[in-house]
Amino acid sequence: MRSINISSPIDAATIEKLTAGTKVLISGVIYTARDASHQRLVKALEKGEELPFDLNGQTLYYVGPTPPRPGQVIGAAGPTTSGRMDAYSPRLIAAGLRAMIGKGGRSPAVKEAIKKYKAVYFAAVGGAGALLADTIKRVEVIAYPELGTEAIRRLEVEDFPAIVVNDIYGGDVYELGKAQYQRNKKEGGEMDCIFCQIVAGKIPSQILYQDEEVVAFRDIEPQAPVHLLVIPKSHIPSLAQMAESTIVARMVDVANRLAREEGVFESGYRLVINCGLEGGQAVPHLHMHLLGGRRLADQMG
Ligand code: 5GP
Ligand code: ZN
Repeated sequence: MRSINISSPIDAATIEKLTAGTKVLISGVIYTARDASHQRLVKALEKGEELPFDLNGQTLYYVGPTPPRPGQVIGAAGPTTSGRMDAYSPRLIAAGLRAMIGKGGRSPAVKEAIKKYKAVYFAAVGGAGALLADTIKRVEVIAYPELGTEAIRRLEVEDFPAIVVNDIYGGDVYELGKAQYQRNKKEGGEMDCIFCQIVAGKIPSQILYQDEEVVAFRDIEPQAPVHLLVIPKSHIPSLAQMAESTIVARMVDVANRLAREEGVFESGYRLVINCGLEGGQAVPHLHMHLLGGRRLADQMG
């Protein structure tokens, strides 16, 4: 999957575009904070004191970097386990924090706060602290210097790689992975199916929308300026092998919403579901094409 470039501080429009599984490259300013500095920030908020920096729209990176060697701005700078911050994060999100970067899953309370206040949680990718350190161009300790490695640092980053784990829609990369695994065990494996692998994040794709039931992504070989595919998350082979049709209504709702986002709602668009051999269905996992952005051909078949 291609990564999308975003900047930090992060705005509401950007957060709305980020769904679980989206890869990003972050540029701008982020702040480091681990358990000890989290505790101090929350204490300050509770006492009504001013924070050492304006939290609004900001990103916190859960890292305690090692000291730089000569010629470097920072030493190793790999992420810490985020669970240690769970007790404090909801309070900080309520106070304006918009993005967090770490590793591992978050508590239900953190995920709720992410949905409620429209924030995002990323896992740092590329794991190796040394590689991440290369994306950090400037470092300045701005608060709690006595905490040493846990002091809050202001980092200027360029193309810091991360993946969206928790989004404002309740999407969760780790839950998606688990659900897919359970389904595969139950159904004896759909892992040969291209679209099931896209759902599981095993085949990269540009995911534009997802919820509990439906995923939408760009067609790899677009036939029109706008060409998206809307599919059910569970493996339904085709229209003809569908237990109930309610899922199709859900897919239409998602397609309409995306038609708006892609700017073709007013100009017009076409939804197509091919079924079976003579219907021209190539991928045996139910999918709806959303086509638009130019005057489409008149013929139906
Ligand atoms: P069908 O012909 O089955 O109605 O449509 C299948 C669609 O899936 C085609 O338009 C094809 O370009 C698209 N497609 C096939 N493989 C992939 C893939 O790996 N990723 C994406 N994004 N689209 C795919
Ligand atoms: Zn499938």
